[in-house]
Amino acid sequence: MALYGRVALIGLGLIASSMAHAMRRGGLADEITGFARTPETRAVAREIGLVDRVCETAAEAATGADLVVLCVPVGAMGAVAAEIAPALKPGATVSDVGSVKRAVIAAVAPRLPVGVHFIPAHPLAGTEYSGPHSGFATLFDNRWCILVPEDADRAATDRLSAFWRALGANVDEMGADHHDLVLAVVSHTPHLIAYTMVGVADHLGQVSDSEVIKYSASGFRDFTRIAASDPTMWRDVFLTNRDATLDILGRFTEELFVLQRAIRMGDGDHLHAYFTRTRAIRQSIIEAGQDTASADFGRSPAHGG
Ligand code: NAP
Repeated sequence: MALYGRVALIGLGLIASSMAHAMRRGGLADEITGFARTPETRAVAREIGLVDRVCETAAEAATGADLVVLCVPVGAMGAVAAEIAPALKPGATVSDVGSVKRAVIAAVAPRLPVGVHFIPAHPLAGTEYSGPHSGFATLFDNRWCILVPEDADRAATDRLSAFWRALGANVDEMGADHHDLVLAVVSHTPHLIAYTMVGVADHLGQVSDSEVIKYSASGFRDFTRIAASDPTMWRDVFLTNRDATLDILGRFTEELFVLQRAIRMGDGDHLHAYFTRTRAIRQSIIEAGQDTASADFGRSPAHGG
């Protein structure tokens, strides 16, 4: 059942293309319009029929839309909001899918006209792939989508919540600062650690050695998958969620030093107790249905930040 007449997707990468497929699966919009920055991406989107109408400008895509979703890197949200603002119809809802919320609100909210509902959102689903080809309809199934409505209109928020549930997600609401802290723990800092570990191997000059590739099934492979995530998106995440990431990174470093000391001192009891606690956390994630116990850690195909 259509929840919105026209939905505009600004940016046509992994998240937007997955939304387009899932919207079609559920018949959630009468018409889907789309815009991407480069003519190449727009041409691909047209070729594969990703949306009903690929527009030449973001403003054209947003014109007459009941819901406009900004699916561009966090650092580009403000400029895109300024571009679409004059084209928005009164009563329309503007949302986004950015991985950071406080910075997006600061960049977007002041640029939107009165009479438009701004309801930030973040689907906790993704892969390391990018672009209009990379999306698939089931990306959001049984994942969480966090809405950050602040003081937005209740009816408009409920409608957006129903939309995300129809896309397959479970929906929660929270404040922007809390969102950014939670995401720093569960996604942003782990990505930074993965980038670092792959960087360490690179500095050792052993990444391309056949042994590293051959034996990488045991942990390093997972780091390389995460470290293959889009550089623009993740640069923007760290630049805009700086304080929360630095806070969690500081805690991480402290714990790492404690473990380092335990190894140096041969304190097996400490290591065993620590690993027993972390194992229990993994078990509770599986029990919550957010991952599987399978050998590839359930990462084919959905996860992300
Ligand atoms: P993506 O596959 O790299 O696609 C990004 C899209 O944004 C592309 O269509 C790109 O157009 C367009 N774009 C880039 N800069 C632009 C600009 N200045 N103006 C207009 N369009 C621009 O990215 P994605 O993975 O879908 O991520 C999109 C958003 O979702 C990000 O804010 C990210 O934080 C968030 N998110 C990502 C994940 C994930 O795991 N990937 C998960 C949850 C949320 P061109 O192709 O023409 O350059």
